[in-house]
Amino acid sequence: MSFFRALRVYPSPVELIVIYEKTIIEPVFKLIMDLTQLDVKHRIEAYYDFFPPKRMNVSIEVRETTPGQPARQVLVVNKDFAAGEVIYKELPVVTALDADLQTKGTYCSQCLRAIKPELSLQLPKDTSTTAFHLTYCSKACMLASKKQSQSLLFTLDPPLPPEIPSAPPAPVAQEARREAQTKFADYIKKSGKSVPLLVARFIARQVQGETQKLVQATSPSAHPPSTEDDYTDAESRSEKYVLADHLERLRYLEMVPSKEETDLLVSVLRTALPGLEEFITTEKYATLSGKMAYNAFGVSYGGGRNDKPEPTFRPEDVEKTRTPYGTQRQIGSALYTLSSYLTHSCKPSARPSFASGTAEISIIADKDLKKGDVLTIAFVDVTQHTDESVVECRRRRRFELARGWRFSCGCERCVEEGNTMTVEEKANSSDDQKDESKVEDAVKNYARGQAAAAQAEEQGINID
Ligand SMILES: [Zn+2]
Ligand SMILES: [Zn+2]
Repeated sequence: MSFFRALRVYPSPVELIVIYEKTIIEPVFKLIMDLTQLDVKHRIEAYYDFFPPKRMNVSIEVRETTPGQPARQVLVVNKDFAAGEVIYKELPVVTALDADLQTKGTYCSQCLRAIKPELSLQLPKDTSTTAFHLTYCSKACMLASKKQSQSLLFTLDPPLPPEIPSAPPAPVAQEARREAQTKFADYIKKSGKSVPLLVARFIARQVQGETQKLVQATSPSAHPPSTEDDYTDAESRSEKYVLADHLERLRYLEMVPSKEETDLLVSVLRTALPGLEEFITTEKYATLSGKMAYNAFGVSYGGGRNDKPEPTFRPEDVEKTRTPYGTQRQIGSALYTLSSYLTHSCKPSARPSFASGTAEISIIADKDLKKGDVLTIAFVDVTQHTDESVVECRRRRRFELARGWRFSCGCERCVEEGNTMTVEEKANSSDDQKDESKVEDAVKNYARGQAAAAQAEEQGINID
């Protein structure tokens, strides 16, 4: 049991397994491995018993959404809703203001709330950074931001909580840290992209979660579990599922981020605390970037903005976010664990709303919903513009979907409208189709839960 327990908590289990293999007698080694396998299997399978929490009013189910395509995970409502009702609200895991707004001081960097210019002088100032100056709407947002990521990424604050004893860093190490942070901040400002910042903040939150676990392990009484009604906290509290467990189940786009980008973040982590860079490998950075790109929502409220600078990238490199109001109208991007499971339809049953004037997302029924109905939203603007024909609107949105999420939309509306197209219209749109199917292959479903379920089925195990 001691060997098994040690394996569960040891930071590099593979290394430990190798040692066990060489030192422990075979029957005992086999027993440890069997126990470990059972443990892993149980963890994977139990995930959807805990997530989403009951109060969110939805479940994750596997359904066939497009005829002829493999079934996939969707969100299903657990009770009836009338059109206009809020189905659930969710706080983001990470947010990032659009590049042109990051250091402007007009929006809160943490919750994305608009800041009234006359108030900006009274706002809390974070003086601990030279690399990346952010504005916050409140002290609570400043503290949350520092705790989650800002301290680690863009300040010289100690990377470990005070409960964990560590030697004060040498001045030369601090200088290296400052330099790495400045380079990374410059890159973020210059690149104009949100994904690198979302990824960096996500990793920082993960690091923070791990160090908190360490603190709790060393002095549990010093840190009673928080009673905050926030399910990400609730789950990390149970220590069963952490952010990484949520994220690893999400779909992602295959991406090849620049080596420069990965190296910059690696050096920010390494100079903060040698060893932290182990949180990121080239492959992991690519996957995380792909997850942000596939799942991030565009945050906009009050009709959105119309002063976002026109993108200077090649059209295929422009970041897309899920928003029926248009990425060009958003003030920032945000990633949500549950809402990432929402699937697209050009005739959606729900819509995202940011009625609180922050990055808290509300999912609102667009029509009357019956218990068991699938929740869908529009990832892009699906309204037919006044200067567009039905066919043009169809082509525009399908093109945006293929470009942003690399799938060919098989929703009811696309099929219906496709059936009424003339031969000539069909011929014209066949080029789009080709493009769409080419990219479809690149979309990977990384739902380990599903894979485990399929495997269990193969082995004849009933996991219902
Ligand atoms: Zn705020
Ligand atoms: Zn469609």
